[in-house]
Amino acid sequence: AAPGVLAARVTSRLEFAFAVAQSSRLRLRDYLARTLSGRDEAKEVRAYELAEALGARYRRVNLAFLDDLRAYLRRRSLILGASGAASALALAISVVVVVLFVGVGRLTVAEAGGAVLAARLLAQQVGAVIGSTQVVVESTLFLDDLEAFAGRVGRETLAASALRAAPSFEVLEAREVSYTYPETDRLVLKDVSVRLASGDMVALVGENGSGKTTLAKILAGLLPPSAGSVEWNGVAMDTMDPTAIRRHVAVVFQDYVRYWLPARDNIAFGDPRKDAHQDLVEAAARRAGAHHMIAALPEGYDTVLSKAFAAGHDLSVGQWQRVALARAFFRDAPLVILDEPAAALDARAEHALFEALRDLGEGRTVLFVSHRFATVRDADRILVLHDGQVVEEGRHEDLMQRGGRYAELYRLQASAYAPDDERVVDAGGDTGSPQSPSAATSARAAEGPS
Ligand code: ADP
Repeated sequence: AAPGVLAARVTSRLEFAFAVAQSSRLRLRDYLARTLSGRDEAKEVRAYELAEALGARYRRVNLAFLDDLRAYLRRRSLILGASGAASALALAISVVVVVLFVGVGRLTVAEAGGAVLAARLLAQQVGAVIGSTQVVVESTLFLDDLEAFAGRVGRETLAASALRAAPSFEVLEAREVSYTYPETDRLVLKDVSVRLASGDMVALVGENGSGKTTLAKILAGLLPPSAGSVEWNGVAMDTMDPTAIRRHVAVVFQDYVRYWLPARDNIAFGDPRKDAHQDLVEAAARRAGAHHMIAALPEGYDTVLSKAFAAGHDLSVGQWQRVALARAFFRDAPLVILDEPAAALDARAEHALFEALRDLGEGRTVLFVSHRFATVRDADRILVLHDGQVVEEGRHEDLMQRGGRYAELYRLQASAYAPDDERVVDAGGDTGSPQSPSAATSARAAEGPS
């Protein structure tokens, strides 16, 4: 048993160390395989002719993994072989001793036969016990890992019973909130203060990377701030049950999920506690301007929104965005947070969306993130984020008058379109141009209003 137990311990550790060492490599290998064969990736992989480069990378990673696997299996086999040989030697010695005992007349042949048989049976049983023990020991190492990982969320789960329920939304206030993403040391939000009161329609603008999405996540209760406080109706949010808070908030992120499920579910997932009644689903879809598009699908609201299934149907990016919006509307929450909700919508749809947001009803609060200035000018309040800080705040007219960052960015965007308008007037009769200027302008207008 001794060599078996020893070998089991050593090989268990080897197995665990191998699995840990290879996890990143296997993740990369699986990712490369998915990228090479994925439907969404296919267009870009073909357009840039990436198949060969990605394929070569996949083979390199896979070969490196196979090399390590071979070395690991060789070591494992050697250890198990050595321990098997040691056990066999021990068994052989016992048989020799028994034979010697028969030779000197201390055992009869029948007794010796019984003893050898018993020794063999015992060896088999011990081997089986060692085998099972090895499985347990091996699993324990992985379970320790799992336990350490699960321990990280243990605190939140344990404290949940002590947390307060969140009453319906009245006012949400972030005070001097700062945020640093885990395992990084850069402050992406610095002392940001925002107040969202019932009925407000607040826009968050700023360049890419200025911290808009991060702030939206903090206000939605999805990220705890690193410093500062967020209060829900005057009560610190971290003393409240996060699930209860989320129930009062509907969020649409830029990278919303496209569920490979029927259109109905894609909308009704906005509130899984609510019955996915056709009237409710349809009302949400209408608000988001998605009803006609869904109704025209082969199986209407029951059409699976993915080509991964035979009867499935895929949507355009703009149509998907409407479905994601419908999901938020289905939630019927008092606080709606929209991160770039109109990025993939055409001009008419974007206009309709903001009309719909206005019509959502009294008391509904909307925070929307956008970097299209033309769509935010109607907001009750505009917050301009720059480098993680709120640098300006106010109504469009005030901010324009102030002549600061907002005014500069607004004019910059407006001027990008102005020359086109001028060209229509100036070069209207220029029939010699390869593309009529008015056609160019209307094509741009169809892409977006700003
Ligand atoms: P915006 O929405 O204004 O484009 P974000 O809030 O998404 O900006 O990002 C702000 C900064 O935080 C960026 O510099 C970005 O690189 C960084 N960041 C965003 N998400 C993460 C993350 N999960 N981990 C680390 N850094 C992040």
